[in-house]
Amino acid sequence: MKVRIRGAGVAGLTLAHELATRGASVTVVEERKQIAGNASWQAGGMLAPWCERESAEEMVLSLGRDAADWWSAALPGHVMRNGTLVVAPARDAGELDRFGRRTSGFREVDADTIAALEPDLEGRFGRALFFTEEAHVDPRKAMLGLQQKLVQLGVRFEFGYGAVLAPGEPDIEADCTGLADPSPGLRGVRGEMLILRTSDISLARPVRLLHPRVPVYVVPRSGNLFMVGATMLESDVTGPTTARSVMELLNAAYALHPAFGEAELIETGVGVRPAFADNLPRVERDGNTIRINGLYRHGFLLAPEMARQATDMILGHKTKKELAHEAHR
Ligand SMILES: Cc1cc2nc3c(=O)[nH]c(=O)nc-3n(C[C@H](O)[C@H](O)[C@H](O)COP(=O)(O)OP(=O)(O)OC[C@H]3O[C@@H](n4cnc5c(N)ncnc54)[C@H](O)[C@@H]3O)c2cc1C
Repeated sequence: MKVRIRGAGVAGLTLAHELATRGASVTVVEERKQIAGNASWQAGGMLAPWCERESAEEMVLSLGRDAADWWSAALPGHVMRNGTLVVAPARDAGELDRFGRRTSGFREVDADTIAALEPDLEGRFGRALFFTEEAHVDPRKAMLGLQQKLVQLGVRFEFGYGAVLAPGEPDIEADCTGLADPSPGLRGVRGEMLILRTSDISLARPVRLLHPRVPVYVVPRSGNLFMVGATMLESDVTGPTTARSVMELLNAAYALHPAFGEAELIETGVGVRPAFADNLPRVERDGNTIRINGLYRHGFLLAPEMARQATDMILGHKTKKELAHEAHR
């Protein structure tokens, strides 16, 4: 079975992995010159189905709870399984209660446990919710790691505009082009993020700081880097991060720990999340085309399961040769 996947975001790469490991011949065509700059590149990389349940359907938890296992098996050493810590300033304690009522899979912890888990947050918060089973990856390293592995598995990559016109007749086309997919009803949800660098604080896990208007998370990465995200704006504009968003994200990071005030601002980034009206992802088939889209805020969390479902559909699908053979019998 020959499959051509369009789009080398997390949807396309996880599908390529699933297909290649199950014996398909795969080409990935990406209109950018390399794997960088797409929505997946800007992600936090959190595999946090219990926290996400605060605003997401039960399906996000049921489809996402095995995501960390999928990433661990695909890319050994990339998954950090240290959980998620959710905190709120004393004046927003009600937010912590509200978050707890809408979620599960956490234990409530006191100031001593917060200090044991995250020594640099000692004395800053009286209580927190600790989501023990959650995990995270560095999305950029994970995507580049997948690409490297896929090449070893024999997957062909074609980059750049010309590559989109590459000849060759696959049995199946898989559209994983995110917002460029013409599916009706797909909308963009703009997410702005920052990357800060400081050696004055270290964190072992993503920390979410609740706030009634600007909730944020800080995800630690190697090299003293911290991803701070993210805005949620009903817009598909990919233009630069606004000053207001930078201010709000920095204010929130500073509220988590003043050391972030002295951090270097390494990068501001924008990604537009592809989403359907129900904010749930879809795998759809239309003739010889399969589409994975609508991953919204859950690309790293839900792409493995979407890739599994799409691969089942694709490998259950007869090739053109098989159909022609049957027609002649
Ligand atoms: C700031 C931010 C933080 C996030 N944090 C998280 C998180 O912590 N955890 C999580 O699970 N999710 C997170 N997400 C959500 C996640 O990033 C998205 O759900 C995911 O990136 C969508 O992946 P995709 O592959 O569908 O789209 P994309 O990553 O946009 O990939 C689509 C690719 O298709 C290519 N393309 C387009 N048209 C063509 C064409 N005609 N031919 C070939 N290639 C084409 C594009 O260049 C692009 O590379 C976050 C998103 C943002 C913006």
